[in-house]
Amino acid sequence: MEEKDLGADLAKVLITEEQLQAKVRELAAQVDADYAGKDLLLVGVLKGAVMIMADLARAMRSPVSMDWMAVSSYGSGTKSSGVVRILKDLDADIMNRHVLIVEDIIDSGLTLSWLVSNLRSRGPASLEICALLRKPEAVKTEVDVRYVGFDIPNEFVVGYGLDYAEKYRNLPFVGTLAPHVYGGESA
Ligand code: 5GP
Ligand code: MG
Ligand code: MG
Repeated sequence: MEEKDLGADLAKVLITEEQLQAKVRELAAQVDADYAGKDLLLVGVLKGAVMIMADLARAMRSPVSMDWMAVSSYGSGTKSSGVVRILKDLDADIMNRHVLIVEDIIDSGLTLSWLVSNLRSRGPASLEICALLRKPEAVKTEVDVRYVGFDIPNEFVVGYGLDYAEKYRNLPFVGTLAPHVYGGESA
């Protein structure tokens, strides 16, 4: 059986595996220090945040709890509208708890701003955000992101949790796709 080479689908690597892992360790150390002595709940947003959540939690020294939410954001094409539906809610009651939302990427910030107001209404002791990637559009939103991994250009990226049509999430780095992937020409 022929194996498909993922590398052939890529235009370029934007952030290498080494850069990602170094940044994750840096973020984990900051979170560890900021929440020292506190009971922290990491809330990962499925599915994109799976990789950053797993690596961040493993790089942390303090014991944390982990929970997951899945949301779908209605919008036309690739732009999200800010109208969000919960596909999977938290198992945990976050009342009086320290909560850190872990996200893969912030683009318009609409999804995250909805999520923040939704979670805030549940009465957490504190609520902060950690996003691995941030695009330029995100500066326009009022969402305050405490921890940011990388500011990236306004390009569609895949890998390390991020998908194109549910593929490429398993790449250990972040990259952009070659035009033939979108265009449908045979590679
Ligand atoms: P926002 O509401 O901030 O515009 O949308 C954020 C969501 O859109 C992310 O959680 C992610 O699912 C998706 N998204 C935004 N930019 C990209 C990108 O460059 N690549 C991928 N794969 N997904 C993206
Ligand atoms: Mg996401
Ligand atoms: Mg996606």
